[in-house]
Amino acid sequence: MRVGYRDVCLEHDTGPRHPESPDRLRAIKRALASRHNVEYVAPEATDRGSALAVHTNGYINELERFCEDGGGNWDADTVAVEETWDAAFAAAGLAEWAAEAALDGADGRETPFALGRPPGHHAVADDAMGFCFLNNAAVAAQSMLDAGAADRVAIFDWDVHHGNGTQDIFYDREDVFYASVHEDGLYPGTGEIPETGEGDAEGTTLNVPFPAGCGDAEYVAAVEEVIGPAIVEFDPDLLIVSAGFDAHEHDPISRMVVTTDGYGLLTDVLRSTVAEADAAMAFVLEGGYSLETLSEGVAQVHEVFDGLEPHAHDWEISESGRSVIEEVKAQGFPSREPFDHDEPDPGTDEE
Ligand SMILES: [Zn+2]
Repeated sequence: MRVGYRDVCLEHDTGPRHPESPDRLRAIKRALASRHNVEYVAPEATDRGSALAVHTNGYINELERFCEDGGGNWDADTVAVEETWDAAFAAAGLAEWAAEAALDGADGRETPFALGRPPGHHAVADDAMGFCFLNNAAVAAQSMLDAGAADRVAIFDWDVHHGNGTQDIFYDREDVFYASVHEDGLYPGTGEIPETGEGDAEGTTLNVPFPAGCGDAEYVAAVEEVIGPAIVEFDPDLLIVSAGFDAHEHDPISRMVVTTDGYGLLTDVLRSTVAEADAAMAFVLEGGYSLETLSEGVAQVHEVFDGLEPHAHDWEISESGRSVIEEVKAQGFPSREPFDHDEPDPGTDEE
């Protein structure tokens, strides 16, 4: 992949015991160091105008003053230092770069991945929250729309938490589709099934709040059966993947059980989705708090674009997971019948 990265993102220092630490990026870089075909790019920070296209002037001014004054606790778990300002604008710039590169034709082995922090998907128009300051994916999507590089953008968020900020920013927008799979009941508590957009944008927000304990089978089914078909129907020019890796079975923050191979399977299904929709695809890092599984997850996404065929451990969908998917379908989204993954492909060895 083409990986957007800048050292300034390490300077957002959250303190010694914060899960969203600079070591996250260091661990990912170490994991990618042993992989082939990783090309690093260091794009420019986003500008104030691009940030203001999704955030309020009052909030951006307040954040600037807060950082200039040395930072501190914005809220109980969202921490800033002076350098957070530059890191946040760099991270948003990385997401913008990834979106632009994808729309310029970077695909296959050149698919862009924005490896920035602080993450973005909890940041709302007028506030920082949940470790997030600028909504990187939203800034990238809006920039591409404003530049005329895309008419419609889809964002799929597989972070274990609901991307309330991204949903909120685009909730009444017909030109941005937002879909999220997340653990029901976790922070920030939003992302219920009936939240589907408002006004003319009804149907452009899709939430799959799975109960704790769901994993590869449920996540893949959600994308294959509803999210993928809904994205194809929306017909975006670009799909931005808000890629957090905290639904991993060994992540300390969630009770989901997605495996490293599962992130490969999801990547593979999304690749088919954008092929069908004839859309570009870019990845933007969100959460992921076990250094080992976070870095393996990013490396797995890379490996799929580098030729790896991910394999499934288990296609058994839990009853509770199945009922969530059926409830989402009942909202009227375009959908498909469940795939029979146990039917062996011709020429494929059994596992
Ligand atoms: Zn998360």
